[in-house]
Amino acid sequence: MIHAYSFPTEIRVGAGARKLLPEKLKSLGLARPLLVTDRGVAAQPFLEEVAQLAGGIPVFSDMGGNPCESHVRGALAAYRAANADSIVAVGGGAPMDVAKAVAVLARNDGALFDFAIDANPPRIIEGPLPPILALPTTAGTGSEVGRSTVISEDDTHRKRILFSPGLLPRAVFADPELLVGLPRPLTAATGMDALTHCVEAFLTVAEKNPLCDGIALEGLRLCAKYLARSCDAPEDLEAREGMLDAALMGAVAFQKGLGANHSCAHALSTVADLHHGLANGVMLPFVLRFNYDARPDAFARLAAAVDAPGGDFIAWVEALRAKIGIPAGLATLGVSSDQTARLARIAAADVCTPLNPKPIAEADFKRLFDEALA
Ligand SMILES: [Zn+2]
Repeated sequence: MIHAYSFPTEIRVGAGARKLLPEKLKSLGLARPLLVTDRGVAAQPFLEEVAQLAGGIPVFSDMGGNPCESHVRGALAAYRAANADSIVAVGGGAPMDVAKAVAVLARNDGALFDFAIDANPPRIIEGPLPPILALPTTAGTGSEVGRSTVISEDDTHRKRILFSPGLLPRAVFADPELLVGLPRPLTAATGMDALTHCVEAFLTVAEKNPLCDGIALEGLRLCAKYLARSCDAPEDLEAREGMLDAALMGAVAFQKGLGANHSCAHALSTVADLHHGLANGVMLPFVLRFNYDARPDAFARLAAAVDAPGGDFIAWVEALRAKIGIPAGLATLGVSSDQTARLARIAAADVCTPLNPKPIAEADFKRLFDEALA
């Protein structure tokens, strides 16, 4: 059964949804898409099938790990060499982000980071941008329904954000069959990212947004129901589909904003090249404990959404984290105590920090990182 949502873009969800790709390309009049993915996904058996479904299209897959500007330059060269008119992005957040950045540069001359929101001043991204059709292979970032892209500088690993409504993929094919080969550690880490999006979006005090709040709570409930199941039974399509839904919902909800947990995760990716979802999963209980007294009412609603024993949401997060094999601290992940000052400095300057439900200073971040290392 394939379900159709038309919010916030055209989405098809269900086993076999990928097979609707050729029809969509045809209806949009797109004849020369470039498939953008990474080395990990390129090794999956379905990649060739998707390329064939789209008409035997060229594939760019020369990238791995967190997306960097050099990946964008490589993919842009492939886009130009193929005289492409659109992008089929297949993967987790990294290929999606690279595909979006290619779309910007395919239509706009200049250096990528001239268009970053923190450029001084940022250049306007002119449209229309080439359409992106997205096939997620993880249930985590929800980048497939996002209007921004995050790309790191190659030398400093500093993360830069570009935003444009034109970056929202034209169509999404969320097919749980593409997730059955996702290894357990990645299922767990990406799932914790989706869960963290729901939690931080709900808690942020940046803006009143009851639409996002409702979506965040339901996305969280789906994580509670399906994340551990996806880890334990990788071929459980109902659980995979539930997490694809949760990831979409987390990303829609965080239009409202995120918070200090993402500040920590961004810093950990920059300094220690940690996987974004893993970093979020490790830090979440520490940051939640810091935030608790700012919004105990909201924590009660989070606890109710997941039916947390004793109404203790933070204990519930810790139990889930242990069940799916996310480490309880940073010590085993190659982070050392001489890095916490730099981590704290980067986290304090992060765009998500002012959105945290409680004011949080560099010294607070330092304490949280030290606690997570203890
Ligand atoms: Zn995230």
